[in-house]
Amino acid sequence: MAVPRHKHTRAKVGKTRMHKHIKRVFLNICPKCKKPILSHTVCKNCGFYKGKEIINVLADLTKKEKKIKEKEIKAAEKEQKEESPLTMEELSKK
Ligand SMILES: [Zn+2]
Repeated sequence: MAVPRHKHTRAKVGKTRMHKHIKRVFLNICPKCKKPILSHTVCKNCGFYKGKEIINVLADLTKKEKKIKEKEIKAAEKEQKEESPLTMEELSKK
């Protein structure tokens, strides 16, 4: 069994462990599919970045998976349309 060469003070141990903690990850929400994503990265769920399609997510899926994914994306788009802010005309009606 390995034997420690010198005694480690509590401060020394604490200083070492200070850098071993798990850092908090700050996530943004994808404007297209509303899933949490890292900022400045392409959304892995829908393959969009800054409103442009970067990755074709549906390319390497099976037929069944494709159907499910397309349905999911359509539902997200529909939800987004409903949540869109009201125009001045709509506001005046309310
Ligand atoms: Zn997305």
